[in-house]
Amino acid sequence: MSAPRLEIDLDKIQHNARTLAQRLADRGIAVTAVMKASLGSPEIARVVLDAGIKSVGDSRMENIEGMRRSGIKAPMMLIRSPMISDVHRVVRYTDLSLNSELAVIRELSSAAKAAGRRHGVVLMVELGDLREGIMPADLAPTIGRMLDMPNIDLKGIGANLACHCGVSPDANNMAELSTLAATIEREFNITLDIISGGNSANLNWALSGADTGRINNLRLGESILLGCEPLHRQPIEGLHTDAITLIAEVIESKTKPSKPWGEIAQTAFGEKVPAADRGNITQAILAIGQQDVDPAGLLAPTGIDIIGASSDHLIVDCSQHRLPVGAEIRFQLNYSAMVRSMTSPFVSKLLRRSSVPIRVPAAANNWHKTRRVVL
Ligand SMILES: *Cc1c(COP(=O)(O)O)cnc(C)c1O
Repeated sequence: MSAPRLEIDLDKIQHNARTLAQRLADRGIAVTAVMKASLGSPEIARVVLDAGIKSVGDSRMENIEGMRRSGIKAPMMLIRSPMISDVHRVVRYTDLSLNSELAVIRELSSAAKAAGRRHGVVLMVELGDLREGIMPADLAPTIGRMLDMPNIDLKGIGANLACHCGVSPDANNMAELSTLAATIEREFNITLDIISGGNSANLNWALSGADTGRINNLRLGESILLGCEPLHRQPIEGLHTDAITLIAEVIESKTKPSKPWGEIAQTAFGEKVPAADRGNITQAILAIGQQDVDPAGLLAPTGIDIIGASSDHLIVDCSQHRLPVGAEIRFQLNYSAMVRSMTSPFVSKLLRRSSVPIRVPAAANNWHKTRRVVL
């Protein structure tokens, strides 16, 4: 089988999606499954929708178009502010988008009008993480100016935390979002359908038993795919953390000194090489590198230590246990490693469902441009 490859267990992902959707439903919160970290895989979208999740989101229009073309009909949310250059595609392929700029909403309005469609808008509010969002004091004036824009429906408000500055969702900032929702509804005599509290980083708060107030939506990606929460990267009880694994192949296996010789300058990626002399080590090279994965986000099997990586080579110390050339080594991945591998054209994707694998060949850098091959 070709290497490197991601093995993606659709049944485990489905279990994660179902479990999260059920636990959050008990708290009055619906889930939008965020597909961006899987390159908008329609197969994964299908299993999470079958798990009871009702809507799908992505940050990239290419992924969204691909899912639509593959027959995904669920309500579709663009979770990054639309680019003005993209508004025609946005109104055509999505039902709603997260927004923070009137100039963009104005263009969405014109595009929706031209297309004879309506487009839903969720206004993002800044709650302290300092990525996207309207400052709370500017929310009402912004709404005042968008309410009469043709073909635009204000669907709700939302927030995103823990991405840029690592600010944790908590009782305070979530209560602020709830209060803002109530204030806006009163001031404009409208009803906001969606109060979208955030991403996987909101799970600790949402499942803690705290009052969830008006928050009725979370946009979840990482927790569904990797089974962990992103604040402290702890596994979530009852979820699979190994639904997605990475396999790489050994191309060199030798006993070598641990200490380099010659005059030492920069390495390929500028890091320093550990110069400690540990005597001879059993070293192997795997055919995978920075172009395929974030090596710092790999968790190797017991007995194997990652000691370096360049564009195409991963160097491991295998503790006197020689790995034969041709052997396959399986790694767990964190979010950064997973995203890099999912988007690398060099890493093939093997989807498994009820023991029937579906292979997506390498060099297919977009799911929707790829024909699935059933092995
Ligand atoms: C990526 C993203 C999400 C999903 O985040 P996860 O941590 O993967 O759950 C949700 N909302 C927005 C705006 C995002 O950019």
